[in-house]
Amino acid sequence: MLDIQKIRADFPILSQTVNGKPLVYFDNGATSQKPQIVIDAEVKYYQEINANIHRGVHTLSQLATDAYEISRGKVKEHINAKFAHEVLFTSGTTHGINLVTNGFASILKPGDEVIVSSLEHHSNIVPWQMLCEKTGALLKVIPMNENGELIIEAFDALLSEKTKVVTVNHISNALGVINPIKYIIDKAHAVGAAVLIDGAQAVPHLKPNVQELDCDFYAFSGHKMCGPTGTGILYGKEEWLNKLPPYQGGGEMIKEVTFEKTTYADLPHKFEAGTPNIAGGIVLGTAIDYLNSVGFENIHKYETELLDYATKRLSEIEGLRIYGTGKNKASVISFNIDGIHPYDVGSIIDKLGIAVRTGHHCAQPIMNFFCIPGTIRASFSFYNTKEEIDQMVDAVKKAQIMLS
Ligand code: PMP
Repeated sequence: MLDIQKIRADFPILSQTVNGKPLVYFDNGATSQKPQIVIDAEVKYYQEINANIHRGVHTLSQLATDAYEISRGKVKEHINAKFAHEVLFTSGTTHGINLVTNGFASILKPGDEVIVSSLEHHSNIVPWQMLCEKTGALLKVIPMNENGELIIEAFDALLSEKTKVVTVNHISNALGVINPIKYIIDKAHAVGAAVLIDGAQAVPHLKPNVQELDCDFYAFSGHKMCGPTGTGILYGKEEWLNKLPPYQGGGEMIKEVTFEKTTYADLPHKFEAGTPNIAGGIVLGTAIDYLNSVGFENIHKYETELLDYATKRLSEIEGLRIYGTGKNKASVISFNIDGIHPYDVGSIIDKLGIAVRTGHHCAQPIMNFFCIPGTIRASFSFYNTKEEIDQMVDAVKKAQIMLS
């Protein structure tokens, strides 16, 4: 059992008022709030060990390097990677995906096929489209049904020996649907395709086990899991990371540079050109420690309660439609009210202190599927409460009356 009041006390921002009302923060899918221990760790880094890493023989540089590499080790343990050098620090999920698509530009040939899903965030669509334009490969899309679930038989039918890469998100940001990624990974491997999982929305809710999943790449952002913005991880299997060319050239990523030829550094440095977000990388480790101290089993159990409660309460509102009604869901609810633009509801409830996301959630194909301009999305974290859900439901009812 989680002591929610104790947990809430870890997050200074949650005791704020916004527009004169206590803040109800339900935009966790966009970015999570940060516990004091994470904020303190960032300050401590700059106060005590700030120095560039992997370069200096001096003490501070050694300390910063050690802290950075310890954090990499924590991530390795957290996602159960086989080697620490399979864990690349990035600036976020978008960076990780672009690193991979850039690498595949030298592998794909005209006529090869890339499969994405209709549930993707733009950052797991556009880089693949750009790759296809560059290489002459074809983009195929796994369709979805009215419940917001992928039509898995259609995926089976898309697979062939032409399929070179398959990519899907672990959990949809727009609808909260959890995708059957283990099935997708195994089926894709059976035709020899590589698989990238966009784990951006999964890592706040669960602990991915990359060896058990057997995915080739798993990308996520630190800021959605209580870590700082501008941090992220790309996990890649050693054999794939050795096969892909570097993403960016610069310092850190070389063995030897001459004007005739440059040789590249070993993993992970081959993919980590330039001075990284050192503080952020270190503090991401602190965020992971914090989440593990709360416990992912506890998080899952409590967030499921919040999801069930919010689904029940919102369903009481006449004319309210929830999108993404499949069984397998994370604590995200996307909805609309008949005849009212989502933006208008979002703006009114903001005045009542409630922060939700409105719009297409960077997933326009999903909105096109449902023929809507966007949705209102409430995404819950383990520090939210049922009382806050009640406040949101009351606020939505008020907005409905005002806008009808
Ligand atoms: N994929 C999904 C499913 C997401 O929800 C997000 C962030 N909303 C991203 C990718 C992109 O993450 P970032 O902006 O941190 O790179």
